[in-house]
Amino acid sequence: METLQREGSLTQVEIAGVTGLSAASISTLVRELNDEGAVRLEPSIRNGRRATLVSLPGQRGMLAGIAIGDRDLRVAVVASPAGDVLERTRLPLPFQHEPDETLARAARLVADLHTEIGRPVSDLRAVGVAMQAPVDSVSGQVGSESVMPRWSGVMLTEALQALLRVPVQLDNDANMSALGELRAGVLAGVANGCYLRASHGVSAGLVIGGEVFSGVSGTAGEIGHVTLDENGAICACGNRGCLDTLVGSRALVESVRGSHGDLRFTDLVTLAGRGDVGCRRVLADAGMHLGVAVAGLINLLNPEVIVLGGDLLMAQEWVLGPMQDSIERRALPSAAASVELRPSALGADADLRGCFVAAAQISSFHEPDSAHRAT
Ligand SMILES: [Zn+2]
Repeated sequence: METLQREGSLTQVEIAGVTGLSAASISTLVRELNDEGAVRLEPSIRNGRRATLVSLPGQRGMLAGIAIGDRDLRVAVVASPAGDVLERTRLPLPFQHEPDETLARAARLVADLHTEIGRPVSDLRAVGVAMQAPVDSVSGQVGSESVMPRWSGVMLTEALQALLRVPVQLDNDANMSALGELRAGVLAGVANGCYLRASHGVSAGLVIGGEVFSGVSGTAGEIGHVTLDENGAICACGNRGCLDTLVGSRALVESVRGSHGDLRFTDLVTLAGRGDVGCRRVLADAGMHLGVAVAGLINLLNPEVIVLGGDLLMAQEWVLGPMQDSIERRALPSAAASVELRPSALGADADLRGCFVAAAQISSFHEPDSAHRAT
């Protein structure tokens, strides 16, 4: 019962996995509890197969995660924050996409996914949204002139709540990823840590005292605009030599254009895998620069774990070593010795996982019978 209270709806196989009890004992238990009316059983489709979802009365329903990037939109639905993804989809978006249109598309995709799993969209309980831009997680407003400028000032939470008629929780993708890793990844049980999302830009999700720390207006951890080279290239933010201009995936691709021609970031990683010394050097330098910025963060926060996520995760083989060296050279020795560098466990799904957790939190906050449910 405690497991269901914490996780929401689960299949019997998932309950067995979470509790460590055998499938046979779970089956007997669920039958007994169902006879007493203490749990609800609902048919569903999981991994393309029919399955029965077990939940507590008053706690049924679906959670959706929406990740909005500058070039794509990912949507997924689950029955519980730790449960399997029931259905998912990804839609490429035009560069500089229109907020209204993208939000309408996201809402339509959430409805489509419900149809695909054989549930009405009225089963949706709450939505978590990860935005690839700074956001004010308190007001639900997207806020940056330089990152995804068309979204600047958009009241995303309000707009999406009007479309889907359920509570919506918004945060930036690094914070959502940190929340995901905290719940079900390499930050589980970690009191003080940091998730680095290094893709076209770098942002950090800070974990302090076992919780994601957003700062007063949600922009804590925007490490990508720390100055590393005062005479460096101009950054999208208007300053020179920000971390983003040295390790952002587009900057890395740009730095081999002269020698290797037009490459995508994945091509660069593939070439590094085949032994291309130039591509390996670019990735190693990115690790070194990341380490410089992270060493400052380590001196400030004295964290236990730093997680590497985002696009650079696929190049971890060439990035993590130089990053570690750079940290050891620059951070206070005791702080550097007590921090562990780990690759993300959830990979590209970390942000969506965090969305599910945030959605579950906001839905239990809004649920009228949540006090009753705890009995
Ligand atoms: Zn900048």
